[in-house]
Amino acid sequence: MDKLTRVVVVGGGIAGLVAANTAADKGAAVTLLEGGGGFGGRALTQIRDGYHFNLGPHALYKKAAGAPILKQLGIHPDGKDAPLDGSLAIFENHLFPLPTNTSSLLRTRVLSLKDKLETMKILSGLGKLDTGFYKGIPFSETVKQLTARPRVQLLLCALARLSTYSHAPELMCGAAVLDQLQAGNAGVLYLHKGWQSLIASLEQRAREKGVVLRNNVKVCALSQNRDEYTLRDKAARTWAADSVVLAISPDRVDRLIGPWSDIAASDAFRVPIHLASLDIGLSSLPNPSRRFALGLDEPVYFSVHSATVDLAPPGGALIHVSRYMGKDENFSPKAVKAELEAVADLLQPGWRDFIAHQIFRPGLTVSHAIPMASRGGLSGRMPVASPDRPNLYFAGDWIGSSGLLADAAIASGADAGAQAANTLTRKALFANNHTGDIDSGLPANIPL
Ligand SMILES: Cc1cc2nc3c(=O)[nH]c(=O)nc-3n(C[C@H](O)[C@H](O)[C@H](O)COP(=O)(O)OP(=O)(O)OC[C@H]3O[C@@H](n4cnc5c(N)ncnc54)[C@H](O)[C@@H]3O)c2cc1C
Repeated sequence: MDKLTRVVVVGGGIAGLVAANTAADKGAAVTLLEGGGGFGGRALTQIRDGYHFNLGPHALYKKAAGAPILKQLGIHPDGKDAPLDGSLAIFENHLFPLPTNTSSLLRTRVLSLKDKLETMKILSGLGKLDTGFYKGIPFSETVKQLTARPRVQLLLCALARLSTYSHAPELMCGAAVLDQLQAGNAGVLYLHKGWQSLIASLEQRAREKGVVLRNNVKVCALSQNRDEYTLRDKAARTWAADSVVLAISPDRVDRLIGPWSDIAASDAFRVPIHLASLDIGLSSLPNPSRRFALGLDEPVYFSVHSATVDLAPPGGALIHVSRYMGKDENFSPKAVKAELEAVADLLQPGWRDFIAHQIFRPGLTVSHAIPMASRGGLSGRMPVASPDRPNLYFAGDWIGSSGLLADAAIASGADAGAQAANTLTRKALFANNHTGDIDSGLPANIPL
């Protein structure tokens, strides 16, 4: 029965790699096809003269939906806790202590005494908050229900941006944000050598489990004939599969299989999260004490990730300066870059004298779909199993009802991989049942 089922996974990002590993663990014969030259997708890391550039700032949640899955796969991300001490708030172009604990809350002058008492009450009660109460309520409304104090609202919105990357509080489900803030309480990891280290572990494990990994294979057609799928790439090479996992973006899914679901096609579902990021490698850091800052009145982020983990050559620093982009915000890349450079000027005056490398990316897609309040949040995202095509599954940060960002990709990847292998196991049992080999215990009309 081993290797009887053929699972093809399209897409070699985190979701596809987790799906491939999981399906292989369940005994399927797995092939993973990746269109790019290497694996990793948006979790790739570019190395330039010893500087490890993730695609914008990346932090792995220690206790969110992906953590137990990685643990079960035996993957232990190599990183360190992102420190909160010394964090700064940017307000009206000035720096203040960011209230992350009692000491910084007492010291900061960005909040009044009444604001501080309110903040302390909200943040200390956050862990026990019944987040389900805010399901289907936009975060902008959730914030108003939590506090009437404008500065505290600004602070909560900034923390929400930090943990979800979303700058659309009027669209995003309040429960999804609060769940993510609760998950963030357990801390996040920056990874040594960048997220490519996590990808390399997943890739190596997949190879050890017998997964056939192919890069430079861009799948451009998927057809179904009876129980079998055929995948074709641009060079007209074909792969046959009993079951397929599409771990690619919704637009790419459209291109492969055409109109596939009313939900997926609706604008209410497809609101991506975008970020502009200026990623800078410096030969020296002008002010080592300023490592992290979050905008309160502007949706900006600054962090020296290399202060915590190994991302830069000795003496050097790797910094991310980013802007969370709202829905339909359409600034010129030049204007956004100037804004981010001004943030770097504020935090690290003189940084321009030490530039070794810099990469500006104005339109990164952090996630393909915000959990929309109008769709009930996480439970309104697209399901892992195709609603209308048997043995076809989806995985990615826009799929399934668990987690956000990479956690959603990992959770849906594991679910898709398991279902893809399991469906076929049922098929194999059914086929064998007809030859009288074994009793599957399944009804004869099971849909395959
Ligand atoms: C700036 C930025 C910051 C982020 N920060 C965080 C963070 O702090 N914490 C967190 O948890 N997450 C973060 N994320 C999100 C996280 O990186 C993504 O959710 C995750 O990497 C998505 O993985 P995926 O496999 O779903 O998709 P992708 O990584 O996009 O992978 C899809 C893959 O499919 C391939 N592909 C597409 N079409 C085809 C085809 N036709 N044939 C073959 N292959 C194809 C692509 O080449 C790609 O490799 C961040 C993302 C960005 C961009």
